[in-house]
Amino acid sequence: MLKKIKKFFYLYILRRKYYRIGKCAECGRCCQKIYVKHRNVIQTEEEFKKLQFLHPFYTYLKIIGKDETGLIFECINLDKETHKCKIHKKRPGICRRYPQEELFSMGGTLAEHCGYKMVPIQSFEEIFEKIRKRH
Ligand code: SF4
Ligand code: SF4
Repeated sequence: MLKKIKKFFYLYILRRKYYRIGKCAECGRCCQKIYVKHRNVIQTEEEFKKLQFLHPFYTYLKIIGKDETGLIFECINLDKETHKCKIHKKRPGICRRYPQEELFSMGGTLAEHCGYKMVPIQSFEEIFEKIRKRH
């Protein structure tokens, strides 16, 4: 019963498609080699500078490169030796909530060996059955 309530809550109240399971393995990979998407993936330093006025999180990022997707950032708060966040207790909400399924809609994926997994709430059969009933 509890499972059913949880499923209903996630699907129809939170409008989620995935459950997040697991826990952070503190590898620090998601704090480096980051793309930033604000409408589109940020491509230039000028775009990025404007973005820094919008949220303090962006002031933590520094540009470390660029590829065909866009600018690549890493967070200055990541301790390179311990792989831990230097402001862990005060880290922004975006970091606390990571990973969220919006990551996938932004074209992102979980970092390799991330301790979290995103599991579909509905099975393929359930989705298929819903579509079949609609038609
Ligand atoms: S603030 Fe901390 S948790 Fe957030 S990206 Fe930077 S190092 Fe990672
Ligand atoms: S990639 Fe995953 S396991 Fe590694 S620090 Fe980020 S959330 Fe934690």
